[in-house]
Amino acid sequence: MKILVVEDERKVGQFVVQALTEQSYTVRKVGTMAAAHDAVAESPYDAIVLDLGLPDGDGLQLLKEWRQNGFDEPVLILSARDSVTDRVEGLNLGADDYLPKPFSVDELLARLRSLMRRRSGSVQVTVLERHGLRLDLLARELKVNGEPVELTNREFALLELFMLNPGRALTRTLIAEKVWEAPYDMETNLIDVYVRRLRQKLEGIGGENYFKTMRGTGYKLL
Ligand code: CA
Repeated sequence: MKILVVEDERKVGQFVVQALTEQSYTVRKVGTMAAAHDAVAESPYDAIVLDLGLPDGDGLQLLKEWRQNGFDEPVLILSARDSVTDRVEGLNLGADDYLPKPFSVDELLARLRSLMRRRSGSVQVTVLERHGLRLDLLARELKVNGEPVELTNREFALLELFMLNPGRALTRTLIAEKVWEAPYDMETNLIDVYVRRLRQKLEGIGGENYFKTMRGTGYKLL
């Protein structure tokens, strides 16, 4: 997932970039309308976080231009201008959400995640498949190359998280938050133990390497 952050205030920009990077997003930050314009023309983004008061103009102008040119990924407006008129104007021009400053980083992350989830298709996915793994979310069943494999609830939740984010490096912090709903405790290696167990179960049957260990950070489903 690649996110463009358009923000001219250095501190706010750095703060947002850091938070997104920690969640394993690829982030590019620009501070002017001109640079944002070029960035979107140069490469694709999965979402944009857009500040409105920019040194060379109004971010709403950019938004209007992007939407006219067919850029239809989520755009979340970040602005100190918190009047109802601004909000309505932003949404009318095609913004997907509007977060007034000051904001909490958790709220920003939650809203971005929900925007990207909404975008990734209105069809509810109930079966996840990858490299011979078939995870049925309704029946709560895993099959590896057609063979059923028993998983504990926690192992199931862990594999579901990986299969929802294939090819993406998931940090231990993120895994702890999603699967254990608790902050990651550096003292324990619980996550490593679970991943190892899951690995053994899958590889025992599938005979393939399903996970890659990202040294010092976490894991990735290949
Ligand atoms: Ca600004």
